Amino acid sequence: MAGTKGLLMLENFIGGKFLPCDSYLDSYDPSTGEVYCKVPDSGKKEIEAAVEAAREAFPIWSSWSPEERAQVLNRLADLLEQSLEELAQAESKDQGKTLMLARTMDIPRAVQNFRFFASCILHHTTECTQMDHLGCLHYTVRTPVGIAGLISPWNLPLYLLTWKIAPAIAAGNTVIAKPSELTSVTAWMLCKFLDKAGVPPGVVNVVFGTGPRVGEALVSHPEVPLISFTGSQPTAERITQLSAPHCKKLSLELGGKNPAIIFEDANLEECIPTTIRSSFANQGEICLCTSRIFVQRSIYSEFLKRFVEATRKWKVGIPSDPSASMGALISKAHLEKVRSYVKKARAEGAQILCGEGVDTLDLPPRNQAGYFMLPTVITDIKDESCCMKEEIFGPVTCVVPFDSEEEVIKRANNVTYGLAATVWSSDVARVHRVAKKLQSGLVWTNCWLIRELNLPFGGMKSSGVGREGAKDSHDFFTEIKTITVKH
Ligand code: NAD
Repeated sequence: MAGTKGLLMLENFIGGKFLPCDSYLDSYDPSTGEVYCKVPDSGKKEIEAAVEAAREAFPIWSSWSPEERAQVLNRLADLLEQSLEELAQAESKDQGKTLMLARTMDIPRAVQNFRFFASCILHHTTECTQMDHLGCLHYTVRTPVGIAGLISPWNLPLYLLTWKIAPAIAAGNTVIAKPSELTSVTAWMLCKFLDKAGVPPGVVNVVFGTGPRVGEALVSHPEVPLISFTGSQPTAERITQLSAPHCKKLSLELGGKNPAIIFEDANLEECIPTTIRSSFANQGEICLCTSRIFVQRSIYSEFLKRFVEATRKWKVGIPSDPSASMGALISKAHLEKVRSYVKKARAEGAQILCGEGVDTLDLPPRNQAGYFMLPTVITDIKDESCCMKEEIFGPVTCVVPFDSEEEVIKRANNVTYGLAATVWSSDVARVHRVAKKLQSGLVWTNCWLIRELNLPFGGMKSSGVGREGAKDSHDFFTEIKTITVKH
């Protein structure tokens, strides 16, 4: 819907209807720095309306059979797939990522999320044990929890939102989703398909706006017993505080400071391009991106030379450019934050080998005010530096040498985060040994970002609480009850 000044105007989706809001936020096109969209600035009032709609829909939706709900999810997946190109264009414009990535990763994965959980819901089993000496049979049943609050970040907007909506509604819950205020467009587009897919009104409600206003209203609402959140650690802390008085069920998927450990027997032909991708894919704005690269000293110089050469070929371009590997960062504030880390590293005496402050960006005049930055490689940096400790969440990676296996495990674990690690070696025994000792919810060896959706996804330490995946998401979005029958 085009607004008065030709801007895209989004509306909340509550009880199956698009509803305008009293006030709106500006949303920017990261590749130009121009406002192109208005996002509802919702608050308590909209959350009350959404809770009412979700409460009314719950008894109906939760009484449908898993097969009936699965059919609806599959229809939704088909509808999204039919609009893949339109959704990819919108995601790329809204987030700044390349159109190629939106087309090949974000939107296909959103489609897959619905298909995957449509299938999963048909295959869960519960437990049963017997106590013959007491004449008892014990079994468990799982039931949906109620109204789920789903809060998602801006880096993989539709991909991560649907990773929550799909398992929540497959299990029979109704939901109130709050996408990031920076990237709300594809969530709004999703709402247009719900009715056609057969999702009853009130099952999926989407309320737009900022974290402190509408996010907190959702988290604090006493009738929303569970919150699934993906985002930053400080926000998770706030959500935990607000949920505490209500003892809410929480799933927290947070940031990372992910190490890549490269041993001297690594296959560099595969390792270098993959580590370039793991450092800079989606502008380095993926929670799983590598930001600390530990290289065994005997191959350190060779690795560094080849890695910097390859980084310089990782082209920054406007998101629609098919030859671009990287688009624009999400916002001006985020760009400045990412740049400030490079500045701090320089002030500490580290070397910036390529990228920020070393090379120059080549952009068309229309995109000069966009939030672009070159992929940047830092070296000669201490493990204690903030660039080696804090999540930068941009196209910046640090490369440092190590000598022994024992030493590198200790250094890799020496951060508060524990989300994803990669290990490169052709020694299978070493790969198993190191993977086991790393404090990380996910370890990829000789690869990166190959996802098996059945298995648990999530982080240790400050990277989160809980896991997502086929069984884990089902466990989270259901309550379990143990029933004992004496005969
Ligand atoms: P963020 O924490 O600023 O925001 C995430 C969401 O929370 C947004 O929708 C935001 O509006 C909302 N929010 C903010 N303050 C809130 C509050 N007080 N109450 C309720 N909701 C609130 O994070 P971000 O900047 O959007 O995303 C980047 C972060 O997300 C990074 O730390 C990244 O590592 C993390 N992330 C983690 C995963 C994972 O699966 N582990 C995936 C993607 C991103």
